[in-house]
Order: sequence, then C-alpha cells, then structure tokens
Amino acid sequence: MANPVTATIRAYQMGFGDCFLLSFAYEDESSRHILIDFGSTGLPDETKVGLDDVAADIALQCGGVLDIVVATHRHKDHISGFATKANGKGSGDVIRSLKPKRVIQPWTEAPDAPEGWSGPDGTSTKRAFATQRASLENMHAVAQAVVDRLDRKGGFDPRWPLAERLRFVGEENIKNVLAVKNLMDMTGTPENNLYVYHGCDLDLAEILPNVKVHVLGPPTLKQSDSIKAYAKNSADYWLKARQLVGLAATGAVAASKTSMLFPDLKSTDTFRQSKLPTEMRWVAERVDIAEQDQMLGIVTALDDVMNNTSVILLFEAGSKKLLFPGDAQLENWNYALQSELAHLLDDVDLYKVGHHGSLNATPKSMWNRFQKRGKASKPDRLKTVMSTMAGKHGGKNGAPTEVPRIPFVNELKADSTLFNTQDLQPTQLCQVISIDLR
Ligand SMILES: [Zn+2]
Repeated sequence: MANPVTATIRAYQMGFGDCFLLSFAYEDESSRHILIDFGSTGLPDETKVGLDDVAADIALQCGGVLDIVVATHRHKDHISGFATKANGKGSGDVIRSLKPKRVIQPWTEAPDAPEGWSGPDGTSTKRAFATQRASLENMHAVAQAVVDRLDRKGGFDPRWPLAERLRFVGEENIKNVLAVKNLMDMTGTPENNLYVYHGCDLDLAEILPNVKVHVLGPPTLKQSDSIKAYAKNSADYWLKARQLVGLAATGAVAASKTSMLFPDLKSTDTFRQSKLPTEMRWVAERVDIAEQDQMLGIVTALDDVMNNTSVILLFEAGSKKLLFPGDAQLENWNYALQSELAHLLDDVDLYKVGHHGSLNATPKSMWNRFQKRGKASKPDRLKTVMSTMAGKHGGKNGAPTEVPRIPFVNELKADSTLFNTQDLQPTQLCQVISIDLR
C-alpha cells in the first residue's frame, strides 16, 4: 500500500468560521481529501469571495471526489456551508455531489446510541443517550427564542449594549436544519456516518491508507464524569490572575467554569444567580422577560456546551502529526490531556488553533506540551493555522475575552509559524500550508 508523502492544508476565508481541506498526496501519485468543517457567521466587508467560490474550489482541488467530511460540531460557523438550496445550487449541494465516502461527527449527533456506548452510570445507556440528545435539541429552541425576541418589535431595545453579542451567540446556536440533514444522508448509507468519541476505534485504513486517525475528543458522559473537579483550574486560560478575578465577578467565566462536559444547566452559576426556571422549555419562555445580561448568560452557557461537543482529531501520517480540535474548550480537552493518548500531543507538527483563538480553547498545559514550538530558526518548527475574524466575538467593554485573544496570538507568532485567514487579501480564497511527511 502506498505511503502519503505530502499533506496540504487549505484554510479558506470564512470570516468568523472554519473550513479546512486536508489533502494527502501519495507516492503512487494518488491523493485523498478530507474536508474539515465548512461554515461562516459572516465574512469581512472587503472580502470578494463567498461560500459558493469556496465550494467550487474544494471541488476543483479534490478532483470531484471527497473522501471524508468532518463536521466537528453543530455550530453555524462550522456547518452553514453544508446547507443545500431548493434549486440544487447551494454550497452544500456541491459538497454532496463530491460523494464523500464517510461523514465524521461527534457522538452527540448520532440518531441512536453508538455501539459500545457507555452512559453516565454504565447501565441505562440508551436512555441516557436519548436524554442527552434531547437536551442538545432544546438548546436550539432557547437560542431561537433569544433571536426572536431581538427581531420582534418592542422586544428589543436598540440601546442595549449587549444586543449585538446576544444576536451573534443566539444565531450561532439556532439549528441549521438543511445543513444537519445534508450531513446525515450525503454518503447515501447510514453506516458511512461515523459518530465518534475519545479513544474510539476509527478504522479508515481502506479510505486513507497509512494514515492513523486518533480521536481525542469529545469524551462520553461517563468519561468526562471522572474529571469533574478539574476545570476550576483556570491557569489554563490566556489571562492574568487579575483579569480572571474581574471576569468571575461579572459572571462571564461562570459558564465556562462548569466542570462537566454537559452541565446540568440547573446547577450552573448562571442559573443559580439568575434564579431562572430549570426546565429548558421554561427557559425558552422566560427569555421573554429576562434581563439582557441573564439572556447572555444563558446563551453563552449553551454556546460553551455545544463547543465542547467538538470532535478532536489527530492525523498521524509518515513522520508528522496534524491536530484538528474544532472549537473544543478546556472541559473537552481535559479528558484527552489526562488520558493515555496525551503523549501524542508532544510532537504535533501542525495545530489548527482551537475556537478561532479564544482564551479557553488552547489550554496552556497543552500548548506547553508542543515540543516543536520555538523561534523561527528552529528546524521542523511547529506550524499553526487559525481561522478567525477579530471584532466579532467577546472583548466588549474592555473585558479580556476578545477572539482571537491578543496575548495568545502574540505567543502563536513568537513560537510557531502562524497562518491566519485574517491575513488573506480580499480576492484570496485560502492560506495554503504544505507539509513534507517523510
Ligand atoms: Zn467556531
């Protein structure tokens, strides 16, 4: 069987969103193509390329055949490009026409409990799974209620300082039915949709010869349960101690401090402080009378939970390791970092920067593991690739929550070769990174 000799990563202009085409060229001159996410919440004003141009370029680069599609999690900025159109000419229709052989998603997207699934108590597995799935569905209803209120006459006070943030986070979390449906049946065979979790056996040898794909996240409920206590350690965030204290006081960090992967929402600080009803459907109704800061607390908590369903994939090809973690935040990473797979992180060659460079998606303890970090002169220096758009998310009123987080971006620049979609010219489609695998 032929060996892969080069990996090429195309990081497309998505504004605030992700879309990466990972292509392996083999010694027998064949190639394999993996599309990792395709979504946007809005492009920069000056950008002259759109989702349709990107879909056309993906079709061109992969020669009309995609081997694998990965949708790391269900957020708009990762899946909106998969939406189809009634006229059959949507960007999602183009991807569908490339007949991907497999679609990889987190276990939380599975229509039924995956084989070998272990629930929180190890017994009522199917039922626990169904409950979890239902609660993710309910989140969309809450997000929709928030956006509806912003849209409704009399339901939205334009003087609200938080209105813009509310809309952004709300719209991120609305269910994208067309994209979700397309992902579910674009391979034509349900067995080709793979729903993955930490440590599961992902056998892609037939499709991707001589490339080992490790699944580092998300953990199952049972797995993440074993690390409940950890996330209180916020030394992993890209903040100074003083800033953390300030954030905690405003409640901005409360949601991300919840220790479980899928926190029972009634137990989060946000809910305790706001004294809002505990049932999701009640929450959706109560959004109508909530204060804007309470609303933001609710949707931010939902946003964090959804980010933590992100698939974390590590591709091992030839002598190199490529890491794609979607928007996984600290709670998702925790499990991988304490697992027996953690050693794989030590010699990562390419790191797709988590969650567009936010403060809590690249735990410092993980970053510090990357031994290939170093000055520009370092041979085989770590490459990093970030898809982001400043000014879209966080950082309002001087809070140290801007995305991308500036001290972290400075660190990326100092200690790795950074490819940033923000540096693309208005007519440029993507950053191209080439890695010799020999
Ligand atoms: Zn994202």
